[in-house]
Amino acid sequence: MAKAKTIYEDELECECGGAMKPKLFNVEGFDVRGWQCLKCHRIDYSDDMNVVLTIKKFKKKGALLKLRKVGETVVITIPKEIREALELKEGGDVTLYPVSKKKVVIEIES
Ligand SMILES: [Zn+2]
Repeated sequence: MAKAKTIYEDELECECGGAMKPKLFNVEGFDVRGWQCLKCHRIDYSDDMNVVLTIKKFKKKGALLKLRKVGETVVITIPKEIREALELKEGGDVTLYPVSKKKVVIEIES
């Protein structure tokens, strides 16, 4: 059975009347699917771009979160925007590396 075509494989029509061909772009190290017009070279990015924008938004200034106490432990809640961009799932594994008393790095395993 042939693999189902996704919208990312379809040609789109550009506002200039030209054909926009699907293409994989590299935006700051991230794979972003999109389309480029063969005639005027205009680029349209897919929703993949939202992930790049969310990461860029929080990469520099971080996200300010509240620690919640649960029993003897504390829980960090990750905002929906970041959860969706990083495709974090409940029950997924992360590894926490304390870097100093003021800094930790959390690596997503799955
Ligand atoms: Zn065009």
